[in-house]
Amino acid sequence: MIVPRLIERKRDGERLEPREIRELVLAYAKGQIPDYQMAAFLMAVYFRGLDRSEMNAMMEAMLESGKRLDLSRLPMTRIDKHSTGGVGDKTSLILAPLIASLGVAVPMMSGRGLGHTGGTLDKLESIPGFRTALTLSEAEKQIARIGCAMLSQTDEIVPADRRLYALRDATATVEVIPLIAASIMSKKLAEGLTGLVLDVKRGSGSFLPKLEDELELAKAMIELGTAHGCPVVALLTAMDRPLGNACGNALEVVEAIDVLKGGGPPDLIEITFALGAAMLVLGTVATTLEGAHVLMRDAISSGRALLKFEEIVAAQDGDAGVVRDPIRLPRARHQENFVAKRAGVVRTVEPRAIGYGIIALGGGRRNMEERVDPSVGFVITAKPGLHVTKGQTLATIHARSEADLAVGRSVLESAIVIGDSAEPPLPLVSHRVTARGVERLA
Ligand code: URA
Repeated sequence: MIVPRLIERKRDGERLEPREIRELVLAYAKGQIPDYQMAAFLMAVYFRGLDRSEMNAMMEAMLESGKRLDLSRLPMTRIDKHSTGGVGDKTSLILAPLIASLGVAVPMMSGRGLGHTGGTLDKLESIPGFRTALTLSEAEKQIARIGCAMLSQTDEIVPADRRLYALRDATATVEVIPLIAASIMSKKLAEGLTGLVLDVKRGSGSFLPKLEDELELAKAMIELGTAHGCPVVALLTAMDRPLGNACGNALEVVEAIDVLKGGGPPDLIEITFALGAAMLVLGTVATTLEGAHVLMRDAISSGRALLKFEEIVAAQDGDAGVVRDPIRLPRARHQENFVAKRAGVVRTVEPRAIGYGIIALGGGRRNMEERVDPSVGFVITAKPGLHVTKGQTLATIHARSEADLAVGRSVLESAIVIGDSAEPPLPLVSHRVTARGVERLA
């Protein structure tokens, strides 16, 4: 294989043979191709795309780069949920324990912050001691014992995605349908699932803001799942404003715990329950979505879901005391309220600006080596459509220094726009996509 020649051919719009893509991806996963060549290849793909057989070859090679979880001996169904990426999206932190507490196994392999979006692994690692790099055998044993493990890609499990994911994050090559589809589906198919629910984000804060691209992404992932024996249901959900109020790693863990305790913001609850209901029906624990809602409400009000989260945190060496007492999570040294400069209606809370703002505060990565500060971010109570008075608190900035508070202020000044009227925001859950087709829900 002559890597510059492959890059050149893709750059010039040629279709590559599946075996060429396979060779490239497997060699990269083994460290035999330098990052600079793979980055150039990814940029060529960004501009030229991959057709379905190239995408399938990429996904299969990523899957083949490591081992898969073998959970086939478990008596229960095995269902996961994965999001295409958003700001303030902490649904995984809630759904993993909630659904596992209802008797469905949840093997959940997640990612780190990607582009302007946050990552479940970074959020989990804000819990002191929490270990996401489980071995295959540790993950399998934990799932058999408590029904859930929340893990990262490692040298053992989808190493190709571990490397490509970090490289795409650092080289502005995230927003490509076949790369997103291959990344997500390689992780999910490595989990040995009996079904998968996808949360495909739409709106200005998603990787693909156009509805037709989001539907295309959903269909591509459903096709990959179906071709590999994994039924997939995708819900399109709103990412034209941050989800919930908390944006930033530890802040989001606090909000997720709040939902597990029966509280939390209504938009976060609605999307989490819609995804959870789809998981429970796919997992055959509920026969209807309404029945699934009843089960989830009961798991929360009885404390079972919260207890399951405690079990997961303890099993992965985290400080389980955090679950009852979130004050033990890292807390930024400086907090400051951000208030409305005029009366009016909130027109936008721009998720992309908020996501990049968290990175500017130190809560995300600007390069592959950077460490994340779990404590920083924003808690934003303003939502599009909200009528506000001058001086009303719209958000709180959590920052490491006075200088960073000023950074946070300028982020919020551009992200939160107040006017005389506002367009209605996107419906929280707008479409359901399955192998049978697209159903409009709102
Ligand atoms: N989530 C992933 O796992 N991969 C992507 O490329 C985007 C979102």
